[in-house]
Amino acid sequence: MHYDVLVVGGGFAGMYSVYRLRNQGLTVKCLEAGSDVGGTWYWNRYPGARCDVPSLEYSFGFSEELQQEWDWPEVFSAQADILAYANHVADRFDLRRHIQFNTRVTATEYQEDGNLWCLTTDGGEKFTARFCIMATGCLSVPNKPELPGAESFSGQVLHTGLWPKDTVDLQGKRVGVIGTGSSGVQTIPELARQAEHLTVFQRTPVYTVPANRKAMRAAVQQEFRENYSQIREGQQHNFGGTSQFSPVKSVKRKSPDATKKIPANILELTPDERNEIVASRGLGVLLSFRDVYSDLEANSAANAAYREGVRKMIDNPDVAEKLLPKTYGLGCKRQVLDRDYYATFNRTDVTLIDLQHDPLISITPTGVQTEAGLTELDVLVYATGFDAMTGALLRAGIRGRAGLSLNDKWRDGPVAYMGLQANGFPNLFTVTGPGSPSVLCNMLVAIEQHVNWIGDCITYLDDNQLTTIEATAAAEVSWVSHVNEVARGTMFTAPTCNSWYLGANIEGKPRIFMPYVGGFPRYRQYCEEVVADGYKGFECSA
Ligand code: NAP
Repeated sequence: MHYDVLVVGGGFAGMYSVYRLRNQGLTVKCLEAGSDVGGTWYWNRYPGARCDVPSLEYSFGFSEELQQEWDWPEVFSAQADILAYANHVADRFDLRRHIQFNTRVTATEYQEDGNLWCLTTDGGEKFTARFCIMATGCLSVPNKPELPGAESFSGQVLHTGLWPKDTVDLQGKRVGVIGTGSSGVQTIPELARQAEHLTVFQRTPVYTVPANRKAMRAAVQQEFRENYSQIREGQQHNFGGTSQFSPVKSVKRKSPDATKKIPANILELTPDERNEIVASRGLGVLLSFRDVYSDLEANSAANAAYREGVRKMIDNPDVAEKLLPKTYGLGCKRQVLDRDYYATFNRTDVTLIDLQHDPLISITPTGVQTEAGLTELDVLVYATGFDAMTGALLRAGIRGRAGLSLNDKWRDGPVAYMGLQANGFPNLFTVTGPGSPSVLCNMLVAIEQHVNWIGDCITYLDDNQLTTIEATAAAEVSWVSHVNEVARGTMFTAPTCNSWYLGANIEGKPRIFMPYVGGFPRYRQYCEEVVADGYKGFECSA
């Protein structure tokens, strides 16, 4: 079956690609492994899953009608509400008829002769197109570490990133969870509420601050609706792609204490003052000091105040000490937001096992064996994250010119031009690929910008009777060195920091900082300049 464009992935990036390219008169087919739309929000159905970007901003801006009609029940939405939104978008714009579900792409091969991308699926079907868009997501391949004896476990095994659609009944069950990143931190309080007993296996303690738990007020939503053009414009100029729009008409007056000014920098405060401010305003206040992310002394002052704050929240001092992050600083990993995380460890039906001091020996048929003993379990939950940024691309069997494999090209880390294309792979685009702001930006804003860029690029080629576009080797090398240059010296790349941004969570993965940390506006400007310069850094041919 032949189309103008093939899109791999039916999450938000794939859905918008279908909408945008169909609207410019192209024939489009999207192939999606899941049974429905939603991507991340389709797969991550674990109890407690929710977004860490406000919903009024984490939403599409391409349709005025859409943003006027959709109601968000909470300021930061739960997974079910975001998935409902994805379904609404699919229905409203009649996207499903372009999407083939339950279809995983196993090979993505360029046929030089006909200038075609040929995709093979797990069902043995073949699709061809002139253009291929990999809308495969940045956090879409679950990481399940190979733990000794894992296959022998006789109970139920779950992964937060592949949570079943059917309700999982944990009542009366002894549940274990491995991992305390964003997914673990979100699900642990919920699992504790549902299970008879929860055991948390923690390898590295996390910095987490309380999430905003407010219900959406109709007046706030209305004010956003009235100002959406200004908000979408604001997103384009904000480092992380959120507008920072503050409703003025509908805001509630804050208490005098909450509005009391705090200094810009944490180093302006004495250690006692830092602890007092954390005690009165909560751990989240530490994120508001400017110097915490740019000055190592300030960072270590914030880390100390954080630890002091946590000590006060945990009843058992031994448990508190285990929960304190000590080996890396705030800001090195993506900030985690929680609801009742620390309070959960004060429950009598929750046990914390610190794998640093009580290492995991093996998984057994009945539970998890650590040095100190066996924890018997009925259910084992892996909250062990993802093979991020490159994982899905490297599993799609991508081969370009002369059979060049993307896996070979990226053996020492991803090399791509602006996270949009790689040399050797003409007419193949990646949405929010490595080297673009992607996960450091509001994803919906990053997705729309990339898909619009790709759509405009295809129009440019067609208008100029050009058939291929390909990033040059020189352009991608110079872009990668710019990406590294911008990341150098930030908390993200500190030697003590081992995050998935660096691929450090996957054994054997090259340690490279993958997203672009120079900010969305700067990145967007580069993209615009490239176009204004006649697609500088790309080679187009007729
Ligand atoms: P993650 O941040 O990579 O955390 C994985 C956890 O599993 C870590 O605690 C890790 O410990 C542990 N782990 C991995 N392998 C292990 C092993 N062999 N033994 C013991 N522990 C092991 O993954 P995530 O929590 O799924 O989050 C990934 C990203 O997804 C987030 O940073 C965020 O961008 C996104 N996300 C966002 C939200 C939200 O919007 N609120 C929610 C969930 C996820 P180590 O630290 O020691 O490696």
